Amino acid sequence: MKNFSKIMPNPRFNHQLASMVCLSNSASNTQNILEEAQTSPRIIVVTSGKGGVGKTTATANIGMSIARLGYKVVLIDADIGLRNLDLLLGLENRILYTVMDVLEGQCRLDQALIRDKRWKNLSLLSISKNRQRYNVTRKNMQNLVKALANLNFRYILIDCPAGIDVGFINAISPAQEALIVTTSEIPAIRDADRVAGLLEANGIYDIKLLINRVRSDLIKKNDMMSVRDVQEVLGVPLLGAIPEDNQVIVSTNRGEPLVLKKKLTLSGIAFENAARRLVGKQDYFIDLDSPYKGVFQKIIDLFDRTTNDEFKS
Ligand code: ADP
Ligand code: MG
Repeated sequence: MKNFSKIMPNPRFNHQLASMVCLSNSASNTQNILEEAQTSPRIIVVTSGKGGVGKTTATANIGMSIARLGYKVVLIDADIGLRNLDLLLGLENRILYTVMDVLEGQCRLDQALIRDKRWKNLSLLSISKNRQRYNVTRKNMQNLVKALANLNFRYILIDCPAGIDVGFINAISPAQEALIVTTSEIPAIRDADRVAGLLEANGIYDIKLLINRVRSDLIKKNDMMSVRDVQEVLGVPLLGAIPEDNQVIVSTNRGEPLVLKKKLTLSGIAFENAARRLVGKQDYFIDLDSPYKGVFQKIIDLFDRTTNDEFKS
């Protein structure tokens, strides 16, 4: 039998969050309202239809890049069943409390926020250490992001369960924007399309696409759909394309996002560019003056040849 007391939101938590929200609402003068509007965070859910396509890798790298650009960022690990954002960021040993503990009144929200030591404006928040995914309701998620907004986070990135997962709807509920991650494989693209529909059905229309694990050699042989083809099939604006890169595995094992490497690999550059584009700092194609111009230009040329379009990354 279901334990309904576990499903019900903890009134203490909601009260704590609600009072924090009320504090900001009481700001009555126009200046404050304007400041609030300017500082209200962008809440972006990183999602996919198919699992294992690179959501967590993208959340860690894009989140870290945005933090390096100077914004205060919090990454929420809402993929409770397959939680591993902490590992990718190398923060797994520092998680003492999760949102579940906040909900149960065991700790304050700021105690569950883990600050990255490398970039102090980046924080990680895990929803739960175990598979109690049904315990976090839509209302909980919405109150949570309101409380995070009051802590002045500018970007809230939610690493979401795959789109058909039960936790998906709750995880996306506070988001205004979505980043759909897909590979160029047909099943992943089909599922990405379903997720785009689900997002729209839930009122999220600002959707962007990140195509991961792109292999120019396969595209060249017509064994993989090109970046442009995938984007056209899905009809979602492209934020970036990330090449297949063995360094992703190395960085995962080290707990150090690719974008922190002194000498960026192609996927590191691609993630960084996607992050810059997301914050509106880069609305152009790859920087041809980059030190990687030689190698990178070759790849762009390959995509150009196969897609007749510029490879955005
Ligand atoms: P998800 O969060 O969607 O389940 P992950 O980010 O955990 O996916 O990635 C799934 C696997 O794919 C991981 O083993 C990761 O190292 C690998 N991976 C992700 N992106 C790339 C890439 N661009 N190149 C090579 N391997 C990748
Ligand atoms: Mg994941």
